[in-house]
Amino acid sequence: MTSRNYTGPLVDVSFDGAICQHSEECMKGMPLVFDVSARPWINPSRAETSELASELRTVVGRCPSGALQIHDHQDSARVAAEQS
Ligand code: SF4
Repeated sequence: MTSRNYTGPLVDVSFDGAICQHSEECMKGMPLVFDVSARPWINPSRAETSELASELRTVVGRCPSGALQIHDHQDSARVAAEQS
């Protein structure tokens, strides 16, 4: 498992670079959060309103490979456990 978790105020995003197809749907869909010129390149903290969090869910849902996943905060402990 090569997935890494990125934490935001409302939702977290995990990314598995091993299965990413580099279609750039994420960067085109929500450059506010997905910016390869920034570190980290995924920044869910910018989705700080419920509207932006909803938009983030939609964009992550368009990821064709499943490399991106949304995690509600109640799931974060499970994700962390899976990564350890
Ligand atoms: S949308 Fe998914 S498959 Fe496409 S670049 Fe982003 S993470 Fe990779």
